Amino acid sequence: MPIKVALVGYGTIGKRVADAVAMQKDMKLVGVTAHSYSFNTEVAKEKGYRIFTLPECEAELKNNGIKTEGSVQNLVEQVDVVVDCTPRKIGKDNIEKYYKPNKVKSIVQGGEKHATTGISFVAQCNYNEALNKDIARIVSCNTTGLCRTLDAINKEYSVQSVHATMIRRGADPGDIHHGPINAIVPVLEMPSHHGSDVQTVLHGMEIFTTALSVPSTLMHVHTLTVDVKKKAVVEDIINLFRNTTRVRVVRNAEHLRSTAEIIEFARDLGRPRGDMPEICVWQEAIGIVQNSHNKILYMQAVHQESDVIPENVDCIRAMTGFKDGQKSIEMTNKTFGIK
Ligand code: NAD
Repeated sequence: MPIKVALVGYGTIGKRVADAVAMQKDMKLVGVTAHSYSFNTEVAKEKGYRIFTLPECEAELKNNGIKTEGSVQNLVEQVDVVVDCTPRKIGKDNIEKYYKPNKVKSIVQGGEKHATTGISFVAQCNYNEALNKDIARIVSCNTTGLCRTLDAINKEYSVQSVHATMIRRGADPGDIHHGPINAIVPVLEMPSHHGSDVQTVLHGMEIFTTALSVPSTLMHVHTLTVDVKKKAVVEDIINLFRNTTRVRVVRNAEHLRSTAEIIEFARDLGRPRGDMPEICVWQEAIGIVQNSHNKILYMQAVHQESDVIPENVDCIRAMTGFKDGQKSIEMTNKTFGIK
């Protein structure tokens, strides 16, 4: 029997999770929600997804030729797991309003706080923590990116401490409301919250982060300085990242020198929506400094719209009792074309 999944909040993340679930042989996408009428709803209709809504939105959808199949409550009643991709704080409310009363498992996204679920998830780091659990949270795109590469370094070189700076895209490509369009905006929070979010997955890691936003929509870039216990050489770090799942080493020689070229590369690979769910580490930007400490330096690019999508798929499997995390990651990667 396939795992029956509902998608609540069909926006930037939700529409990608819906497509990813629909691609899995062991899952069935029962339906998605529409909170208002938009081109997203038209796409869901064209893809043949069953559409559910809230009573107050029904008329707007009907007037625009969208047939709905019932309420969010009706959808939730039909499934094993709900993936909630609504904007920040709504997921938390939905847990209390719909998911807990209906005894249905639920996954919320990085906009919600760790305390909402008590479990924050990045498949390759802590798959087992979500095994058979009723609620879990997929961490943010930035935290996912930091966790994937830091976990690999930690396992091989034992991390002592980390400083990371996040240069964040100002808005998603389809977002006409946010910026900046001509400024560099520091996050006036020192250190930024991203470091403590990493600790919800990589427990006990000593890390502090700083962040700023720039006028770009394509990806985030992270610069990292990692103090490690064992001596490292650049060639070994390159190989470590090459052998780490959902991490891709990109090179100057390929002309992948910027976020723009990485996204163009993803488009040319034929990735759906031009997505790049792997964290891209620049080979030439991996360095070592050996003074009183062993320091590993690197830079990575994070595609904010897509890196968390495979994590949602693996979390569904973990929560419904699929024990082999490695196997789940392989199954998911195959459907995304991730090598
Ligand atoms: P979004 O605004 O693009 O999409 C949210 C969707 O939820 C919209 O379609 C909206 O109509 C719908 N919605 C709003 N209220 C609803 C309700 N009460 N019931 C059902 N649907 C409702 O948001 P997003 O960027 O996809 O973010 C969703 C979550 O994912 C947030 O927690 C966010 O922090 C997290 N996240 C976002 C990104 C990103 O870069 N966009 C990356 C990682 C994680």
